[in-house]
Amino acid sequence: MQLVWFRDDLRTLDHPALYGASLSGSPLVGLYIASPGQWRSHDHGERKRGWHYGNVMALKDALAKLGIPLIIRHCEHFQSIPESMAALCQRMPVAAVHCHSALGHNERRLEDQLAETLSVPLVRYEDANLVDYQNTATGQGTRYRVFTPFARRCRQLGLSDAPLPAPPPQAALSLNIPDDPWHEASKSLWPCGEDAAHKALRRFCQQRLSGYQQWRDRPDHTGTSALSPYFAAGVLSPRQALAAIRPHGDSEGAQSWLNELLWREFYRYLMHHHPGLSRHQAMHPDKEADWVNDESRLQAWQQGKTGYPLVDAGMRQLNATGWMHNRVRMLAASFLVKDLHLDWRLGEAYFMTQLVDGDLASNNGGWQWAAGCGADAAPYFRHFNPLRQSQRFDPDGDYIRQWVPELAEVPAAQLHKGGPFLLAPDYPSPLVDHARQAARYSQQFQRQQEVTEHA
Ligand SMILES: Cc1cc2nc3c(=O)[nH]c(=O)nc-3n(C[C@H](O)[C@H](O)[C@H](O)COP(=O)(O)OP(=O)(O)OC[C@H]3O[C@@H](n4cnc5c(N)ncnc54)[C@H](O)[C@@H]3O)c2cc1C
Repeated sequence: MQLVWFRDDLRTLDHPALYGASLSGSPLVGLYIASPGQWRSHDHGERKRGWHYGNVMALKDALAKLGIPLIIRHCEHFQSIPESMAALCQRMPVAAVHCHSALGHNERRLEDQLAETLSVPLVRYEDANLVDYQNTATGQGTRYRVFTPFARRCRQLGLSDAPLPAPPPQAALSLNIPDDPWHEASKSLWPCGEDAAHKALRRFCQQRLSGYQQWRDRPDHTGTSALSPYFAAGVLSPRQALAAIRPHGDSEGAQSWLNELLWREFYRYLMHHHPGLSRHQAMHPDKEADWVNDESRLQAWQQGKTGYPLVDAGMRQLNATGWMHNRVRMLAASFLVKDLHLDWRLGEAYFMTQLVDGDLASNNGGWQWAAGCGADAAPYFRHFNPLRQSQRFDPDGDYIRQWVPELAEVPAAQLHKGGPFLLAPDYPSPLVDHARQAARYSQQFQRQQEVTEHA
């Protein structure tokens, strides 16, 4: 019997560990271990936990159709997993445990511990990535730190796009091992399960891929795929996405979307090689500013009450749905760091508590990019002007009005002008002055660099 341990890879198709285990020809059993206490300590919010719960239930059904039972265990924290898994391996004739290698520090440590303590082998596979993280290197043999040459190299090497099939159905196994009780409220806007994910992928390719390049930056349009929750929980693999866009060949839309999938790969590649990133360490600590400590600013940002309409619309979309458009994520992150001068880690943690697509590598990569201390990050002097951004990317103000009802009656031109007294009686005046804060950030940063250089 082969035990397949599922984590952020909640699918039956294109699943290297499940497929690899099936090659032995012996019966397969799936295992999922819910660790709500550990997840909370990793800032995973209710929405993300509920999303995983719904997808684990969908996975259980999909595996059952293949005759594969999925056992659900509950271990509040990772530390009790080795004992629980060892007990399971004693209760059933398990020959090996199969899983994908994870990226996070605690997840990796757990795998190492299992490999050492289990009485059966732990067989680790790379998940269905587009790129071989271990072996992708520059001509000098060093690791990439800049996106464009990384993406170019990946394209040259050829991206992996041959999704694996599901394992062949087996005679249904009845184990008589009851699931541990585990429940998370699952009320996401996205329907759970692989069928729903593939349907959404097909719809995106038919309806929006060709215009992706043109509309991807517009939060007032449905121009992107909104597939991130499926990728983050591993319901969909990037190889499946790549296979789906192949028929659209070299079209601008397909190439532009592929570029975004490669950003995801880049951040995963960085975390693979720099595990400290998963522990909130900056990629370039010398490029971190001195942050201020101001709880009221943080709360205003979290609640979408900064007085900058596009920032507030984004934060309210996040709070209401668990998702935010990428353009607005960039702006909201830049605003926290370069206008409010707060530590990017506070933003990273808050996003994680709210996002349904919360993903360790992409979230960390996005925040370090905005804070200027990541690999290939926005430099300290690049400031997103929140009013200029809304003028460019939400010209009619539709997105802002959708999420900030106090501004429903305010004409677009006024929205992009901002300023005190200007907008609506129950909408806050700007919390800070953008131009002044941006200049202060740059000056402070420059001074700091000079001190470092002369130290
Ligand atoms: C501060 C910040 C935090 C972020 N946190 C997350 C996060 O926790 N989880 C997450 O999945 N994405 C995160 N992103 C990246 C990006 O905003 C989302 O992936 C994207 O908005 C999802 O929408 P979509 O599925 O419509 O993307 P599409 O535009 O349709 O792109 C397709 C897929 O490519 C990937 N992708 C797209 N843009 C990026 C990017 N810039 N970086 C990495 N991957 C990308 C996603 O998996 C996405 O689903 C963050 C970005 C920023 C600036």
